[in-house]
Amino acid sequence: MKGEVWVYAESTERVLHEVSLEILSKGREIADSLGGSLSAVLVGRDLMDVAKELVSFGTDQVYWLEPPDSNFYPGVHVVEALTELVKEHDPDILLLGATSVGAELAPKLAARLKTGLSAHCNDLKIDEQGHLLQVVPAFGGGVLATIVCPEKRPQMATISPGVMKIRRNESRNGKILRREMPLNGKSRVKVLDSVKEERMEVSLEKAEIVIAGGWGVGNKENWQMLEDLAKLLGGAVGATRPPVDEGWAREYQMIGQSGKTVRPTLYMGFGISGMMHHMVGIQDSEFIIAVNTDPEAEIFKMCDFGVVGDLKEILPCLIQEIKKGRSEREGF
Ligand SMILES: Cc1cc2nc3c(=O)[nH]c(=O)nc-3n(C[C@H](O)[C@H](O)[C@H](O)COP(=O)(O)OP(=O)(O)OC[C@H]3O[C@@H](n4cnc5c(N)ncnc54)[C@H](O)[C@@H]3O)c2cc1C
Repeated sequence: MKGEVWVYAESTERVLHEVSLEILSKGREIADSLGGSLSAVLVGRDLMDVAKELVSFGTDQVYWLEPPDSNFYPGVHVVEALTELVKEHDPDILLLGATSVGAELAPKLAARLKTGLSAHCNDLKIDEQGHLLQVVPAFGGGVLATIVCPEKRPQMATISPGVMKIRRNESRNGKILRREMPLNGKSRVKVLDSVKEERMEVSLEKAEIVIAGGWGVGNKENWQMLEDLAKLLGGAVGATRPPVDEGWAREYQMIGQSGKTVRPTLYMGFGISGMMHHMVGIQDSEFIIAVNTDPEAEIFKMCDFGVVGDLKEILPCLIQEIKKGRSEREGF
């Protein structure tokens, strides 16, 4: 057992994704417990500063793959390059963020490397034999399954954003190993343009107040009431999966096993049944309020304050009362 832990470090416009830093921090802990080393793989052009930043998070080696231009598609070109690199160095563990890029790369890599993959893990541990224990919500999220890959290498997992703590570790003099990344492999996908996604004013992961909506919200017009309430309270709007599928909410607003983990002081869920896939993403909220027409809804078992009622009646009243209270305080 060499105890070599690798993390795929994602960056956009020379800024590392938080989930990559979260996994690196955990990766350092795992590498130390195995008496091994921690490496990061970075892909992109002109990333020397980013590579140095990775070292400041406790990385022993940064494998920086630099393509001839920025017009490459990760799902083909990075898979090819990473497969080669992994075959060359044979790490024990390879971890990626459960982001859209990670979710595309990881299964393709696992198939090429003929190894297993656990997706959307929310914890990682090491057992007495030095195997990686990959903890994943399973069977509708009702139980936490621990998955082990005892034979094949590398042991691969994607990790949900927001479930691990970021810890800087400047104790290392990590090496930065740059190599060119040829754009090998025929890609049926061509990058025509990159468009910056519009983001919320308040980030979901850092929001003190999260207003979340589910399938029960019913349509885009009703969804606007969640946006209005969040704006009034200085909070962020989150969603379960169905509103994202319906196009009322954006992918980055999804909370839960396949989405974000939130830790607000106040979480308010409207028209959400309380399936574990969603609840694992909100369980660290300090105070949970749920509004649902069904008194038997699962969310009522986990909330601090539940309202059995129709969100179409409750939301307008709530918004109106908050506005009224504010105008009275301001003396209008
Ligand atoms: C592998 C996997 C991963 C998944 N990952 C995620 C994830 O990360 N996040 C996630 O959210 N889901 C995820 N899901 C989906 C998840 O299992 C549930 O399907 C989803 O969370 C249900 O969303 P919901 O509560 O909005 O919808 P529903 O379960 O359909 O609940 C809608 C609720 O709205 C209530 N309602 C209806 N009308 C009103 C009204 N007018 N006023 C008030 N209440 C009303 C209903 O009583 C009902 O309880 C995943 C599923 C799988 C298989």
